[in-house]
Amino acid sequence: MNTPVTSQLQPLLNATTIQERVSALGAQLNADYVQSEAVRVVGVLKGAWIFLADLVRQLDLPISCDFLGVSSYGQATTSSGVMRMTTDLNDPIAGLDVILVEDIVDTGLTMRFLLKTLALREPRSIRTCTLLDKPSRRRVPFTPDYVGFTIPDQFVVGYGLDWAGAYRHLPYIAIWQPQDG
Ligand code: 5GP
Repeated sequence: MNTPVTSQLQPLLNATTIQERVSALGAQLNADYVQSEAVRVVGVLKGAWIFLADLVRQLDLPISCDFLGVSSYGQATTSSGVMRMTTDLNDPIAGLDVILVEDIVDTGLTMRFLLKTLALREPRSIRTCTLLDKPSRRRVPFTPDYVGFTIPDQFVVGYGLDWAGAYRHLPYIAIWQPQDG
């Protein structure tokens, strides 16, 4: 008989640690964008929405929010870096200071694609803010402008990040490990 596979969650970042870091990122953005007349905070669906919701509530800036979705073509093409936008922004970004908010940067392919795509729309500026960064996994050179936490090469869930649609609602971040049991 097959042994059922159950998951094991190993806590990595607790809710208090996350909230403190999000506050610090907010303070940094408030200082860096103090001169800006219009900031558009763009969240990458679905993983970034919880982080974005907490982050924007730390901002004392003239902001508006929008969202987009991306996916890689086919199933096994992530390594090729061929991406497509599955949900586009609702509004133009021309002339705006765009902050692109992501849950996690892994290979860097998603951010590279989005930066190239959004730059064609002539924003005044565009910077990237990610809650988590796994620099050891990069396939293309990419350095986010703002990083919450640099983490090791582990698959993580919670605070917006999922495994097969589950765990997004967790207020903390955990390492997800499949385990026979
Ligand atoms: P990249 O294009 O940088 O390789 O991929 C970024 C996307 O991969 C993230 O937005 C996320 O959807 C997914 N991803 C990468 N690492 C993880 C991880 O550890 N956990 C989860 N849940 N998603 C991840």
